[in-house]
Amino acid sequence: RASSESPPTSQANAIENVVIIGSGPAGFTAAIYAARANLKPLVFEGYQSGPGGQLMTTTEVENFPGFPDGITGPDLMDRMRRQAERWGAELYQEDVESIDVKTRPFTVESSERKVKCHSLIFATGATAKRLRIPREDEFWSRGISACAICDGASPLFKGQVLAVVGGGDTATEEALYLTKYARHVHLLVRRDQLRASRAMQDRVYNNPNVTLHFNTETVDVVSNTKGQMSGILIRKLDSGKESVLEAKGLFYGIGHSPNSQLLEGQVELDSSGYILVEEGTAKTSVEGVFAAGDVQDHEWRQAVTAAGSGCIAALSVERYLVGKD
Ligand code: FAD
Repeated sequence: RASSESPPTSQANAIENVVIIGSGPAGFTAAIYAARANLKPLVFEGYQSGPGGQLMTTTEVENFPGFPDGITGPDLMDRMRRQAERWGAELYQEDVESIDVKTRPFTVESSERKVKCHSLIFATGATAKRLRIPREDEFWSRGISACAICDGASPLFKGQVLAVVGGGDTATEEALYLTKYARHVHLLVRRDQLRASRAMQDRVYNNPNVTLHFNTETVDVVSNTKGQMSGILIRKLDSGKESVLEAKGLFYGIGHSPNSQLLEGQVELDSSGYILVEEGTAKTSVEGVFAAGDVQDHEWRQAVTAAGSGCIAALSVERYLVGKD
């Protein structure tokens, strides 16, 4: 849009009951519940990554209840989207560019429209941090993964030698989880020590199926003649020596970045940028603003937990709006 023009305000200056930002399991579940409650939710699905969120980047989802034979990530998300649409959620494939929750009604603005609303559900997810090694895109979901719980039991990794990169709680947890399925797990740590909690460190040190590699940089993955991942090129930071570690999978345990920038300075975030919610609820520090899914959850990060918190957020909005009447 031309920079001097203001985008149109939705439906002739109407104030929406609820605007939902995000189209992952949290956003669509919130949309289904809010639409069924007749709140006519307006959903900004995001433009850059398209609708569907993180599961659009994966193949089989084997742990979402109701699909005993598994379902692909895109198929699952398409079903959630259609369910939200069927109950009347209004969907816009646009990125929200700014939000104002300091004045009421709240304002949400994309490049196409400016919307006023009484309440807001923020479900913008989180992004797994990546190493940006040269062959990362080529092997993403074909050997490289950012979720041991999601992928550890898949036929690609079961019974194989695997590696996890990172030295904090996430990496140690992923490594220990993978020992349930893998033949052996290597933990690749850049520093000369682990940052994980003492308890996690003890569990790793005491597990004979985990080998720790300190001062080790993950340089790239290597493949065999069939184009399958066969190992990891590592470099010892003290000697500069490079070698190939045999492994069929590489799991990133280097953390996630919550997509909460739009609310910075407006609602309370923790030191890593996760939106703080009152325990057991979806309530943020601003009344009427609710958060759901990975943007407020640094611990569980699963599709079903995101969906559950989306449900809580929508039911909370319903109560909040009734209380307001
Ligand atoms: P997300 O899915 O991250 O969705 C966030 C949404 O917000 C996106 O649609 C994005 O476009 C939108 N958004 C962000 N910023 C804006 C903005 N400014 N304006 C508008 N929209 C915006 N979990 C499982 O339970 N089982 C699995 O098998 C599994 N496999 C996975 C495989 C991979 C490769 C990855 C990366 C994750 C996997 N997960 C799995 C984790 C699961 O995907 C997440 O826990 C879940 O998607 C979180 O849902 P969410 O709704 O909170 O956020």
